[in-house]
Amino acid sequence: MKNWWFLRGVRKGILTEKTPKDIAEWSTEIEGKGVVNCPTKAIENGKWIAERCIFCRRCYPNYKPNLNYEISIIKGTQKLFKKSFFIYPIDAGSCGGCNMEIKLISSPQYDMTRFGIFFTNTPRHADAIIVMGTLTEKMKEVIKEAYNAMPEPKLVVLLGTCAISGGILGEAIPLEASVLIPGCPPNPYTILDALIKVKGGKK
Ligand code: SF4
Ligand code: SF4
Repeated sequence: MKNWWFLRGVRKGILTEKTPKDIAEWSTEIEGKGVVNCPTKAIENGKWIAERCIFCRRCYPNYKPNLNYEISIIKGTQKLFKKSFFIYPIDAGSCGGCNMEIKLISSPQYDMTRFGIFFTNTPRHADAIIVMGTLTEKMKEVIKEAYNAMPEPKLVVLLGTCAISGGILGEAIPLEASVLIPGCPPNPYTILDALIKVKGGKK
């Protein structure tokens, strides 16, 4: 099996995707109308609030995904990271879903390294920390320590509805961040799109 993939790679060259395809529709923007009993109050006055949606589908078919994966909220960018952007993920109480999706952006299909994005295993080498899961009082201290260890300039990214608004568990301890990546879990394309934008574009 290994040999087959090796030969395929040699014959076809780079097999990463040029444009998003086969997007999982339930982690994209949701549109519709009507009153629904949303468990996280992600629909208010007929307006969808990305930061609160856990994509449970209770609102379907009144509200449907429209395949727009660019749903991140970017409050600040840092062009200094355009050529290389090192990210340090921290699990503050995740179910594991967000961890799986962020891991995927390093797979051959998405290949974050072609955009100059890399994982680092220490906050001392990180340009951004990526917080996943509902933040608890104890993990707040851990994140503060990691943040203090990072060199300037530095960014905080909240990945997933739990980190942004508490998700299905309710209120999260608010954390100031430059980037909010909604989803439960977020689509790998949404994550990549947000990280590329925040680092000041493609290399
Ligand atoms: S998918 Fe679930 S959480 Fe999201 S808007 Fe619909 S009902 Fe609310
Ligand atoms: S946002 Fe969803 S996938 Fe991510 S940690 Fe929370 S429950 Fe899990």
